[in-house]
Amino acid sequence: MSASEVAGLREDIENLYEAVPQLKNVFNIKDKIGEGFALKKTKWPKHVLAKIGPRLYLSQQTIVIKQGTFSSVYLGTALLKSGEEEKFALKHLIPTSHPVRIAAELQCLTEAGGQENVMGIKYCLRKNDHVVIIMPYLEHESFLDILNNLTFDEVRDYMFNLLKALRHIHHFGIVHRDIKPSNFLYNRRLKEYALVDFGLAQGTPDTKIELLKVVKSEGQQEGFVNLSAQRSVFGERNFNIRISAPTDIAIMRPIKQPRMMMDVSSRKLAPRKKVVPLKTASSVAARKSASTCPSNLTCDCYATDRVCSVCLSRRQQVAARAGTPGFRAPEVLTKCPDQTTAIDVWSAGIIFLSLLSGRYPFFKASDDLTALAQIMTILGSRETIRAAKTFGKSVLCSKEAPAQNLRTLCENLRGTNLSGRKSDPMHRPLNSCGPDLQTDNPKKETFVSPQSHEEQDQKMLPPKNTVTGDFKRMRIDMKGWDLVPDEAYHLLGRLLDLNPATRITADEALVHPFFRALSS
Ligand code: ADP
Ligand code: MG
Ligand code: ZN
Repeated sequence: MSASEVAGLREDIENLYEAVPQLKNVFNIKDKIGEGFALKKTKWPKHVLAKIGPRLYLSQQTIVIKQGTFSSVYLGTALLKSGEEEKFALKHLIPTSHPVRIAAELQCLTEAGGQENVMGIKYCLRKNDHVVIIMPYLEHESFLDILNNLTFDEVRDYMFNLLKALRHIHHFGIVHRDIKPSNFLYNRRLKEYALVDFGLAQGTPDTKIELLKVVKSEGQQEGFVNLSAQRSVFGERNFNIRISAPTDIAIMRPIKQPRMMMDVSSRKLAPRKKVVPLKTASSVAARKSASTCPSNLTCDCYATDRVCSVCLSRRQQVAARAGTPGFRAPEVLTKCPDQTTAIDVWSAGIIFLSLLSGRYPFFKASDDLTALAQIMTILGSRETIRAAKTFGKSVLCSKEAPAQNLRTLCENLRGTNLSGRKSDPMHRPLNSCGPDLQTDNPKKETFVSPQSHEEQDQKMLPPKNTVTGDFKRMRIDMKGWDLVPDEAYHLLGRLLDLNPATRITADEALVHPFFRALSS
């Protein structure tokens, strides 16, 4: 850390002590943690980092929005009576969060947390509108750092434990809505796991979390981070797609998710940022109403069933979106009004896809249509269109993309495709939703060739001249990646079922043959 960064951190910590003075009696706040903070450690010269907002940085290459825009998480220690120090994670929620939203996040932690790989809560401190959630500290790895040296067995364990956490929260009727590696802490050494961050959670119709019955869909940040070591499979390449619903209103309804939870009494509109307009069928209609809508009006529909005219005019927030585009399920990307726990299962599938292919983030898109196009490139455009129809969305796509064989895809990306399985008819895509699909594409080229210049790939490959050498040694070098069973790709296909109605549940996934050797 540079001197200015240390000074910045000191200042943040001082501000937190000042905002919530009770902290000082108990905690010694030491550092800021969380993925977003890693950005500050990247060595970009000051002049390319023009600060253009509280958390938005503009560099020459890319716009980086700091992750975790609505909270800061700190590492703090407390002195126990025994004289020992105990570590805690202190999550400071930004004061503009809606009180009900905060209370709902807390209720998820208190009622579902502390068991089954779901983070628990120790205390909560508040002064005025500043809330600090105090959790046990779980030291964890950065997903990107370990992605390419995990053994296959570790990946199986990871997925099993993630699905266990999902099963647990889904039993409580919690839809997390932001399942991604930075919200699933993994301590490799201790083999401990913890699902965190219920800041975007929503309830199923029969949720056991009372406050989730009150919170409504909220707009959320488009969190995307560009770190040098990331190896996305996609850039922002796109082909043109359009989504439409039978009626515009189906798309319009979720508009009511003002992110501008301000003070409850006035509820003034204060859109946080400009969002690139989506090319949906509704945007034309929305634009019309937006142009006739005076600014600075007061919304009166928050937490109700209605959509007020103010919210209807809000073109920027057309989507019932939450989380990060690359992890969003097709029904989220197409703004399907009834979204269930299946959306978390999809996101778990995306994590699994990263683990199997060694690429993270796998899909890198700053908007929903790009993300959908990227999904089509993997799972097939016809399959995607067919699935979308089942939830009432018609998707138009400018060019057809065949479904890829998931094993071939992952092995090519990981650089472990040594066995020439490419043309093996046994390894057809398992993700397709009907038998009458897609004939096998004889060309079957992957869109990205293994990036052999990247050293991590090389680690996975046995040195060329030893391929015929000591087989046992080679197996050790491969860390199990030469023996990935078909069940892995079958499960991947079931998690990434484009149709939420037939997608496997966390419950079912835990008894999938892939986990046969493990017990719940
Ligand atoms: P946000 O809503 O800002 O994303 P999170 O709850 O996801 O907040 O926390 C952000 C980051 O802080 C996590 O990705 C993780 O790195 C770290 N973190 C959160 N809770 C804990 C914890 N209990 N122990 C250790 N680190 C944590
Ligand atoms: Mg988070
Ligand atoms: Zn409103």
